[in-house]
Amino acid sequence: MVNLQQTKLNEDGSRKVSQIIKQVILNAATSDGIEPAEELTPFAKDALTSSGDTPLTMLKILFKKQKTRATATPRFISAMRKGNLTYENGIPDNFSITQLPQTLQGTPVEKLDIGRMLNMDENGTITENDTNTMHKSVLPVSRTMHFLQDKMKAFQIVVGEYFGTNSWVYNDATMWVTWIEDNFSTLQEIRAQRDQDLPVKIEIAISDRFNRIFNAAIVGIPDESLFDNRILDGILLRTTYLELPSAVREAISSNKRRQEAQPTNQNQNRRQRQGIARVNHENHPLELKMLSDQYRSNVTPYIQTHKDKVPKFDDNTDECLKFCFLGYCNEDCPRSKAHVAIKRGTKRFDILTKLKSSCMQSNKPTPDFQKGEEQ
Ligand SMILES: [Zn+2]
Repeated sequence: MVNLQQTKLNEDGSRKVSQIIKQVILNAATSDGIEPAEELTPFAKDALTSSGDTPLTMLKILFKKQKTRATATPRFISAMRKGNLTYENGIPDNFSITQLPQTLQGTPVEKLDIGRMLNMDENGTITENDTNTMHKSVLPVSRTMHFLQDKMKAFQIVVGEYFGTNSWVYNDATMWVTWIEDNFSTLQEIRAQRDQDLPVKIEIAISDRFNRIFNAAIVGIPDESLFDNRILDGILLRTTYLELPSAVREAISSNKRRQEAQPTNQNQNRRQRQGIARVNHENHPLELKMLSDQYRSNVTPYIQTHKDKVPKFDDNTDECLKFCFLGYCNEDCPRSKAHVAIKRGTKRFDILTKLKSSCMQSNKPTPDFQKGEEQ
């Protein structure tokens, strides 16, 4: 492990940037995957050399200028000052999206005067107790897509200033911002219907992705494969499994307990959070595949007016159209008997392919297709 600490000062009292740290940041700021960036951005240079609470002030000014609701945890500020971008323990911190919440309320650093702490830290008058509090990790508990969206925008802005807007990392951050924006309703729908923890799961996935990139920058230029964007479709199609570290899971449930301010049964809570078990269609034929937005605006209205057009799976069961077209459904679906993989070249496949085109063709804007969305 490379030692990323730096304490040396220049003659004028500003901190020196070690060559190692400078190289890591330049590597991370590559704009072609071949060469490191040529120079540190003015923002990175200031953050790395300025003293006391300056990095905090820099962030405040930046967020205000960009009209972004965000603040930074001490861990993030410290990461910015020291160029210590990565984390090791599986719980995202340091230079990660998780550390840019809208508010520090309800976190271990809630009551801390961070600016004062940073100044005291610098002139060595900080108490051990304060140091410990300051370095406590602030766990991500994004409950809504809006919250995630704000954090991601804040992160994009800092990444742009710190690494430059030509850098791959900035492009990647921008891609996430755009993706969240473009798929906002779909993501909200998945969250509402299937996975309450989706926002925080995405937050962790984004953090881990940048952590891998920053880790790669310690030893060289981050490889193109680290920027693979198939994960975006994977999340939408629910083929990518998003992990939630157990510490974060605990934080969410205790946060929820606090919010509800009433005794709850933890097991019940956990079951509710995880929702109902999902069934996936293995080897789902692409010809049948629809995104949930497509399904909602084509299949749902069509079936509402053509109830008789739902094909039979067997004498007693209709086909489960979610399973057929989305490629997944809930275990407790009343048509779960029909959750049987569809194979190309079968009569069943033909019938469903035709039904799909009928739905697509008859698509007319319908003012209310909320009903019948759930089976
Ligand atoms: Zn079903």
